[in-house]
Amino acid sequence: MGQLAENLAAVRGQIDRACAAAGRDPAEVRLLPVSKTHPPELIMEAYQAGLRLFGENRPQELAAKAEQLRDVPDLTFAAIGHLQTNKVKLITDWASEFHALDSIKVAEALDRRLQQAGRSLDVFVQVNSSGEDQKFGLPPEEVEAFVASLSAYASLRVRGLMTLAIFSDDQERVGRCFALMRDLRDRLRDSDAGSGCAELSMGMSGDLEQAIGYGATTVRIGRAIFGSRLEPNDYWPGAAQ
Ligand SMILES: *Cc1c(COP(=O)(O)O)cnc(C)c1O
Repeated sequence: MGQLAENLAAVRGQIDRACAAAGRDPAEVRLLPVSKTHPPELIMEAYQAGLRLFGENRPQELAAKAEQLRDVPDLTFAAIGHLQTNKVKLITDWASEFHALDSIKVAEALDRRLQQAGRSLDVFVQVNSSGEDQKFGLPPEEVEAFVASLSAYASLRVRGLMTLAIFSDDQERVGRCFALMRDLRDRLRDSDAGSGCAELSMGMSGDLEQAIGYGATTVRIGRAIFGSRLEPNDYWPGAAQ
């Protein structure tokens, strides 16, 4: 087995164990491999190992890779990073889902492009669950009203919420972020505005087991599958924003 296939098997093992510990069915947890900074050759190695959907956080990098791999059957990309309105077209042209929606301006720009293209897009609303200033995402108390206002944009299919927990060795602080997300999702799911808004995109290489314990339905895993990140500019000179 190559290194990537070995890493993948280890991650799947982690997911299975976390599900068993939480009394959940592993089929409820989707693995979203994050290929950012890695070249298309490595994405193809992951494809050979059975993966089909890949997460990228920079719109230009996503578009460049998607264009290069456009003829590969069933291969799709998820945009998982912050988006500015001037880059919306890269996402509507090349991504099958978007995990970092946090403003009406971007929702409106996405919807306009999608209407023109006659397609829809699965979106996740990003929440700043740690309260850190440098994090993107809506403050938790604004999420319900925001989701309600998204009903004006018919091409956006709101699938759920997304977050990056605080980066910390303190399990309790990380757990508080995930618990907040779960409660928010539960309340939303029971509201008129948020029916259908049931998913939780949370958990990365360092905290995926905890995220699953708190109900993650998509975990976004980079380093544990692809190894440490490369310097983006070495591979994707055009990718820096
Ligand atoms: C890079 C990234 C990940 C994956 O992080 P790892 O620690 O490499 O698993 C997940 N989500 C987002 C939004 C990212 O940018």
